[in-house]
Amino acid sequence: MTERRRETLAIIGSGPAAWTAAVYAARANLDPLVIEGEPVGTAVPGGQLMTTTEVENFPGFPEGITGPELVDRMREQALRFGTRVLSEAVERVDFSGPPFRLKPTQSEEVEALAVIVATGANARWLEVPNEERLAQTGGGVSACAVCDAALPVYRNQVLGVVGGGDSAMEEALYTTKFAKEVVIIHRRDAFRASKVMADRVLAHPKIRVRWNSKVVEVLGYDSISGVRVEDTLTGERSDLELGGLFVAIGHTPNTAFLGGQLDLTPHGYIKLPEPWRTSTSVPGVFAAGDVMDDYYRQAITAAGTGCMAALEAERWLAHRGVGEPPVIETAEAPVSSDGALS
Ligand code: NAP
Repeated sequence: MTERRRETLAIIGSGPAAWTAAVYAARANLDPLVIEGEPVGTAVPGGQLMTTTEVENFPGFPEGITGPELVDRMREQALRFGTRVLSEAVERVDFSGPPFRLKPTQSEEVEALAVIVATGANARWLEVPNEERLAQTGGGVSACAVCDAALPVYRNQVLGVVGGGDSAMEEALYTTKFAKEVVIIHRRDAFRASKVMADRVLAHPKIRVRWNSKVVEVLGYDSISGVRVEDTLTGERSDLELGGLFVAIGHTPNTAFLGGQLDLTPHGYIKLPEPWRTSTSVPGVFAAGDVMDDYYRQAITAAGTGCMAALEAERWLAHRGVGEPPVIETAEAPVSSDGALS
């Protein structure tokens, strides 16, 4: 860690939030560096869209677009305006600046006057045989009903939803719009979800619950045909026929590399102290996308907050004598003399 690169704005991540932030920052002449991550195991840069087959709800693509192609096009757009990319992960940060210091896995340390964290969250999976393969090939396994339940492969089928929290309740209720029947498979005899959500689920005529049950295998070759379920009380195994499966057992935000230097919510997401702002507990560090959002979790909302973070970073830098005069000034957020950055 001897040599250092000095950047104006570093963006960590490579999903819709990161690339949108890069498009805006590059067009604002901030010459952003995107540190996009690197392949680790089955995870590749690009975030959750890389394992989403068909995206039908991103405006502007009436015919739909695959997740990887959407990410690719966003990346292309950011590059077109001069964004530079480092294909490494950030393994640790020092946010005691500005300048802030980021250590990529291989390269020398990067110094940046402002940082946007857009590292996303990963859906948790059951890690049982066939689950990952069928999720990656569009074979009827998904971790996002709002993204996928309307696709033809899931329509008029008996669909399974795994989990007992609010996400599982939400996924099950949403899925009823398209499914013939929805079976919630939960490992205990009570839901963890809020009472109001659980009551709505239990009263729904299309939903039934398999209590004390855990999925031990997803069945099917090209597409799912069912799941093998184990009774958690007796250990007895049986097969349940299904046309699709939604795994809703929670998400893990990618915040470990921050080493506790930003305030987080009780669930580990980056906490944003001000409503409708992407600034974090450290001035000059902004957060966008699923790493700060456990509520909407959509590609389009991630892109929207990426735009917000870039505009806020631009404004924050301009107030410190870096770049051109800020583009956003409102009565509630007037120009202030915050002092120049060195
Ligand atoms: P969660 O509350 O942590 O629930 C995860 C569920 O998955 C639990 O029921 C858990 O079972 C089950 N589970 C975990 N690992 C499993 C495994 N390996 N195999 C089988 N089941 C497993 O996660 P969440 O539902 O995503 O919610 C996260 C937070 O966001 C919560 O605070 C929630 O209230 C909030 N949220 C709110 C809304 C809303 O208000 N509309 C919507 C979504 C989420 P156990 O119960 O046995 O532990």
